[in-house]
Parts: sequence; C-alpha cells; structure tokens
Amino acid sequence: MTVELAIHGGPKTRTAPFPAHVTVGAEEKARVCEVIDSGVLSNYLGAPHENFYGGRYVRECEAAWADSIGAAHALAFNSNTAGLIAAMGAIGVGPADEVIVTAYSMSISAIAPLFYGATPIFADVEPDTFCLDPASVEAAITPRCKAIIAVDLFGQPFNGPALRALADRHGLKIIEDCAQAPGGQLHGTPTGLLGDIGVFSLNYHKHIHAGEGGIVVTQDAALAQRLAMIRNHGECVAGAWGIEDLRNMIGHNMRMTEIEAAIAKVQLGKLDLLLAERRDRVAYFEEQMRGFAPLTLPKVREGARHVYYAHACLWDTTCGLARNAFVEAVRAELPVFALREKEGVKLGAGYVRPIYLLPAFEHRIALQGAANGLTHSWQSYAPGLCPVVEDLHFNRLISHEFIVPSMERSDIDDVVRAFAKVWDARAALSQGVAA
Ligand SMILES: *Cc1c(COP(=O)(O)O)cnc(C)c1O
Repeated sequence: MTVELAIHGGPKTRTAPFPAHVTVGAEEKARVCEVIDSGVLSNYLGAPHENFYGGRYVRECEAAWADSIGAAHALAFNSNTAGLIAAMGAIGVGPADEVIVTAYSMSISAIAPLFYGATPIFADVEPDTFCLDPASVEAAITPRCKAIIAVDLFGQPFNGPALRALADRHGLKIIEDCAQAPGGQLHGTPTGLLGDIGVFSLNYHKHIHAGEGGIVVTQDAALAQRLAMIRNHGECVAGAWGIEDLRNMIGHNMRMTEIEAAIAKVQLGKLDLLLAERRDRVAYFEEQMRGFAPLTLPKVREGARHVYYAHACLWDTTCGLARNAFVEAVRAELPVFALREKEGVKLGAGYVRPIYLLPAFEHRIALQGAANGLTHSWQSYAPGLCPVVEDLHFNRLISHEFIVPSMERSDIDDVVRAFAKVWDARAALSQGVAA
C-alpha cells in the first residue's frame, strides 16, 4: 500500500492547529490592573532625580531579575534590540572600531555596532552548537577590535571560557545576546553573566514575555551607570552628576513602562516551570526520534544547561534526500499553532539568512555618512565568508518549535508520525534526490 504525501495531494497527518502557547494569565492581569489603578503607567524623568532610574514596577522587576541570576545590576529596556545598542554605547565603541559578531542570529546581534559607527566583523560558528567558534573569532581579531557579541543560539550557551580567555588576552569586552536563553547555564554560571553585559528579550516569541521588553544585566557598576544614561537622555544628568567619561553619553528613550515591568516580573516567576516543561517536551520528542537515521539531535555543550528556544537538528546530507525536499514535505503534513496561524508551520529549513548576505551588507549601505562602519570593512560580505554557517543554513539545519510547553505528547506524536511518513515515502520525492 502506498501512502500519498500531503504535498502530492494526499491527506495531511494532522489538520487541527497545535495548541496555542500562552504563558500569561490571571496573575499578570491582576498586576496590570494594579498599575492602571495607580494612574502611573511610567515613572521616569530625564533629569538628575531619583526617577531617572524609573518607577516602582520597573525597579521591582529589575531587582527580581538581578536576584534570579545573581547579577549586581539589571536594567529594564523596551527591547533586547535597544539593550544591545545601549551595550555598544556603554562599552565605548565608535567609528573605526570593530566588533566581532556571529553570522547566524537575529539581525540585531550583528548590526548593533553600526549604530555607533563601528564595523561588524563576521566570525563563523561551531558546526554542532551553532554558537561562535573561538578559532574563527581569534582569526578575526585585529588591533581595531574592541568587543565580541556572542549569542546563546536556540538556548545553548556560547563557549564562555574560550571566548573569555581570548577577550582577556586582547583587551576585548564580551556582550552576550541571551535573548534565546533565559535560565540557561554553563558550568554553573547563568546565561547573562557569561560576558561583561548580557541582554535578554521579553518579546512575544521568547520563553517568557511582556509583549515587548529587554533586560540588560552586568556585574560592573560603571557599565550599569552608562547603560542607564543611554537608556534615558543621559546628556541631561552628565553635568549635574559630574560624569567625566562622556563618550557615547547622549541618550535615547529606551524605557520600559510600568505595565510591561509588572508583567515581566510575574513572568520571571514562571520561568523555571516553563523551562522544565520545555525540557520534558524535548526529552519526549528525542526519545521518539532516536532511531530516525537521517537526523542528528541537538548536541548540548559539556557543562551546559540548554533551554531550547528552538530544537535545532542536523540533516544527513548523504542520506539520498535533500533537506529542503524533506522539510517542505513535512510542513505540508502538519498544522500551524493556534494564535500564530499566519506565521506558518513552525518547522524550518535552516534558521535566518546568514546576516552578511542581507542587502545592507551586500551593497554596503546601512547608515549614511562617514561613520558608516560598512564602508571601511576588510571583509567581503560575499558568499563563502562563513562556510559553516552557509552549510548549516542552506543544507543541513532543521529547526522547529514543537517543544513549546503547550504541546502534549499526543501533539508531539503527530509530528513524529509526519517525519516518519515523509521519510518512508521518500521515493515519491525523487525530484529532490541527489544523484
Ligand atoms: C528576539 C531576539 C532579539 C531581539 O529581541 P527584541 O526584544 O525583539 O529586540 C535579539 N537577538 C536574538 C538572538 C533574538 O532571538
């Protein structure tokens, strides 16, 4: 009996949407109502005043966050994006400086230096953890290099000790983009504290969220003060407070509101439970998939606590079926998530396009003016720059979100059945078969 694949018009493995992944509820609602009843939805002043640091809920949220990972300082921002830009300003980078970045991440992880006129220099990633490869970083260091932005991609901590050793040897700062890794750890050190500044995200797609938001953490009081200045019109307090290092000390409005801060604090209290549920879904999925020959399950770095923002597997490119043909056929078998219908099936061939292949780099036009860090880069930004990232993205990586806490075992069973159905019927996908 032949099974007709959905991509060829056969019945889908499942049509009913997967259950919506909703983490907010009564407790968040109660706190939001409390803020609204208070009449103070944000309580910042861009002036030398105690409210320069925000209102009650912002400070409570920051204290809870700092406490949860043992950070000396936590600052609430209106996004991770704003936090990464502020981090660049706080460490003092400027035109002619270089910052080593990964080519495989959400774009802001690599373009943040451009906002201060500094140049992103791309390094390649480790083929099994997808985080920056220390050897590639080392090869990219020049006398102009000031910092590294390291990403805990998919929830896996980057190689902290190796990059720390390199950074110390060359006098570089490390900014950790831990948007995808709240609650992660490496050899007992929490994510966020693996570099000099860590930046979390609270956007809707992350493990926990406040709609939008970001939390920036550091153990360094001077950096914390500079981050606070950039967050909230620092030029207005620099004189009164006798700030002497004025580099990059003009500010934006990157402030989180009291409403988001109230939600974020409640969400933080749910993080451990949500992570345990995610680990449980990962364990179950991996148990079912262990014998599935063409797929290599995610490696966890030694000593790491991976928090699985996504579950990223590797396709065996010698198995006779091209990854894209497989993924396309499985996508046709599966439904979308409720509430996120328009985002499509949460299974991807690769992740996001290697950042240096975006038009801004290809055409070297990101910002106008002499401080545009793309005009004086020694890198080509051409295909071939980071071969591991390109091979992962275009040939090997398969990422999915079928491990979110809303997925029951029976839902995961449907995913496993779809994978098996397509693999068993692979002869029917012969157009995709490599000779
Ligand atoms: C989501 C994400 C960001 C951006 O976070 P925002 O809070 O939306 O600005 C940055 N880096 C990575 C790795 C992300 O996943």
